[in-house]
Amino acid sequence: MTPLSIDAERLLGRIRTLGSIGRDADGRLVRLAASDTDREGRDRLVAWLEEAGLDVAVDRIGNIFGIWRPAGMEDAAPLMLGSHIDTVIDAGIYDGCYGVLSGLAVIETLKAAGFSPARPLAVAAFTNEEGVRYAPDMMGSLVHAGGLSVEAALATVGTDGTVLGRELERIGYAGGNAPGFLTPHAYVELHIEQGPVLAHEGIAIGAVETLQGISWQKVTIDGKANHAGTTPMAMRQDAGHAAARVVAFLRERARASQTPTVATVGCMAFEPNAINVIPARATFTVDLRDPDEARLREEEAALAAFLDRLAQEEKVAISVERLARFEPVTFDARIVGRIESAARARGLSHRRMTSGAGHDAQMMARIAPAAMIFVPSIAGISHNPAERTEDADLVAGANVLLDVVRAMTAEGASP
Ligand SMILES: [Zn+2]
Repeated sequence: MTPLSIDAERLLGRIRTLGSIGRDADGRLVRLAASDTDREGRDRLVAWLEEAGLDVAVDRIGNIFGIWRPAGMEDAAPLMLGSHIDTVIDAGIYDGCYGVLSGLAVIETLKAAGFSPARPLAVAAFTNEEGVRYAPDMMGSLVHAGGLSVEAALATVGTDGTVLGRELERIGYAGGNAPGFLTPHAYVELHIEQGPVLAHEGIAIGAVETLQGISWQKVTIDGKANHAGTTPMAMRQDAGHAAARVVAFLRERARASQTPTVATVGCMAFEPNAINVIPARATFTVDLRDPDEARLREEEAALAAFLDRLAQEEKVAISVERLARFEPVTFDARIVGRIESAARARGLSHRRMTSGAGHDAQMMARIAPAAMIFVPSIAGISHNPAERTEDADLVAGANVLLDVVRAMTAEGASP
């Protein structure tokens, strides 16, 4: 293959331009899904897609697609690249936007080079990946993949009382295409790692082979409130102490195992929450993650068994509510191999890895062969204005994506 590279200055300039849209009075970047600032960001993206000569299509959930259909390929399924451009509150400028703008850069580079792909190419910006204003997250790609009906998604009431469908109409992005109208031949998403692994190991490219499963549960422990001074230790039904034992159990179990399991108790509340009263009730969340479904089930079962034992030992009642559950995703081995080959050919260090965060690619993997490419996040920071990736790493990742796309759209190539 003749060496080709994306236009680095144009990509970096666009990332900065998009990152300047949606700054609030305090200078914080906030482009929540279907908000006014999201509209501004979308309008900017659509203008770039049009300048690149792509067909722009918007579906009913507001997903934006820029499509390059060479003549004679009207009905062929495209190789799709993409991510999202909505943000969290006080966001960094790379999360999501980097993948969308790199996808566009790859298509522009191939068009300009006179490359003739064996199938169409498309770049997607999925609605509401972050899930800050409307739950669940990864909503646009979930709807696209058929995992949630568009009617249910559009009826979602946001944290600010707005209805997503009406907000999409208001900002002009309630499109006419049925969700899933564009089924990809394969899907590749380039993203910042949002974790410390690549930066810590000094590796340029992550070939993401799995995305870990997530189990969210809410645990409620009921004991008995009583006087902190007069109740002997042996006679207490202390919901707070029982909760603390769960925190310690999860951490010790995860640390002792040689597996990538991670366990977190991130929220906890006591009632009545007073210095001199034994807690009557403790409620807390449990976040369990693992790239292996069997092991994730084992961890859930181990927690359930511990809670049974705990209820007897501490003389408390324990109930558990499931809040969310996503199975781990195994990405397409052929695409993962192509990412490794592309990195190797460019002399870039690389490793296989698991994604610790959720991404649109996990939804797209339900309907097409999919994989992800990660680039290092400095200090592993994301969802924070300090989120950063070195320019050289951003450009290297986009060029690996370019090479992967060339290989996947060469005549006769499988995904
Ligand atoms: Zn993202």
